[in-house]
Amino acid sequence: MDLERFKQLHAYFSQQDLPEGARETEEYEAYTDAIHENEECYNWATAEKLKSKGFDYESYCCLMMADNVYSSLDDAGEIRYGDPSVIINKWDEGLYGIPIHDGGSSMVLIHYCPWCGKKIAE
Ligand SMILES: [Zn+2]
Repeated sequence: MDLERFKQLHAYFSQQDLPEGARETEEYEAYTDAIHENEECYNWATAEKLKSKGFDYESYCCLMMADNVYSSLDDAGEIRYGDPSVIINKWDEGLYGIPIHDGGSSMVLIHYCPWCGKKIAE
């Protein structure tokens, strides 16, 4: 799927009042597959989402990192500790870590992005 077609489908499937059954079509399946399998579509859709939330995604090494850091925060912008769906944490000091979900607050500090491989900390 090319990006222009993806943008059209995104506009359609993002509207509030989708017709009944709109998400049970092959078109919807192709749209969601593109998010997961087409990097260009994923990057565009993720940037749109983070932009709409007012999240400063451009300061991150890549959109995967920005999206996962965004997902680690609650509505107030605080880290959701103890939530097993959180896979990465970023602290104000610029440190990044992978939380260990053992009931405590243990972390594995990381120095390179697990998605794009760029150095993210000294
Ligand atoms: Zn990255």
